[in-house]
Amino acid sequence: MNLMDKNTIKKELVEIGKKIAERGLVVGPGGNTSARLGEIVYMKASGISFEYAKEEDYIGVDFNTGEVKEGNKKPTSELWLHLECYKRRDDILAVVHTHPPFSIAYAFQNEALKPFTPDMVALIGSEIPVIDYVVPGGKEFALAVGEVIRDHNGVLIKNHGLVTVGANLREAYYRTLLIEDGIKTVIFAKLLGNMVFFTKEQIDEINNLEVEKYRKKLLKGGI
Ligand SMILES: [Zn+2]
Repeated sequence: MNLMDKNTIKKELVEIGKKIAERGLVVGPGGNTSARLGEIVYMKASGISFEYAKEEDYIGVDFNTGEVKEGNKKPTSELWLHLECYKRRDDILAVVHTHPPFSIAYAFQNEALKPFTPDMVALIGSEIPVIDYVVPGGKEFALAVGEVIRDHNGVLIKNHGLVTVGANLREAYYRTLLIEDGIKTVIFAKLLGNMVFFTKEQIDEINNLEVEKYRKKLLKGGI
């Protein structure tokens, strides 16, 4: 079992933030990440770019009220989005929100992303629905995202981007990568002319593989 403390969480937030910037999943101060530790949610401060964010730029807010409890900066404008995701599910301890270009292009198609590789089945664990654009930063947007996150590990938002959740930051981050990479594959496959998604039987078969059960447990920090 991974025993998390606040310093480890802040270190991970910094590290993953840099990876998000390096991979072009956001530009400038866009996007935000958070991780929950009991009643405190650590999240990126408002207006800070991932590539320059340091540990002190990740502040602690109260899980119930959104009030800043640790740090002296303003929380991300998507504060409510993060809190809403945690309120919907006890099993998630991290949220990653990015603006990945291929995911944004795909969201216009209005089609949920379905799995077509074993990694997608094992690591994303659900299809990824698309929701209509809602003005960002407010409670209405947070509720629209939370409604989907209740039953899915990610959601594509038209004209905006992507939100993924996980049992820890690494899992939420890998889900973001798998969705963005998966969407690149869909776009190129459709350009070439053929695209085949898994059947329900194939998905069940992968979910029952011992090796996938082991990998999933490992990623959630259960080993
Ligand atoms: Zn955003």
